[in-house]
Amino acid sequence: MKSALVLKCPMCNAVHTLKGQRNEYSKQDLYAQAKTHLRNHDLNETKAAIRKNEIVYDATEIVISSEMYQQLPIKAWMEPDDAWLPDDVMSENEGSQSEFESSVEISFH
Ligand SMILES: [Zn+2]
Repeated sequence: MKSALVLKCPMCNAVHTLKGQRNEYSKQDLYAQAKTHLRNHDLNETKAAIRKNEIVYDATEIVISSEMYQQLPIKAWMEPDDAWLPDDVMSENEGSQSEFESSVEISFH
C-alpha cells in the first residue's frame, strides 16, 4: 500500500495527486501545486488566493495499492474525466479536514 495526497480544483474538478503523505508537504508546497493549475483559470489575485486556499484545505490523503497507485494523476493536473481516483476519495475527505486545518494554522509563517 502507498500513500498519496489528492488535490482537487473547486472550479473545474481537475485533480492532481502528490506522492507520499500530507505531513511530507508544507503549506507552501501545496500552494505552489495549486497555483500551477489556477493559472489556467485567469483569476484576479484575490480570487486566485481564495481558490488556492480551498484546494489546500481540501487536500485529501489516500492509501491505495501499488497497482492502483500507478493510475493516479501524479505528474500533472488532469481533467476529472481523464483522471483515475478511488471511489472513496470524496467520502474520506470530510473526516480529515479539520485536522489538516489546524496543522496548516501552526505551520503558517
Ligand atoms: Zn480548475
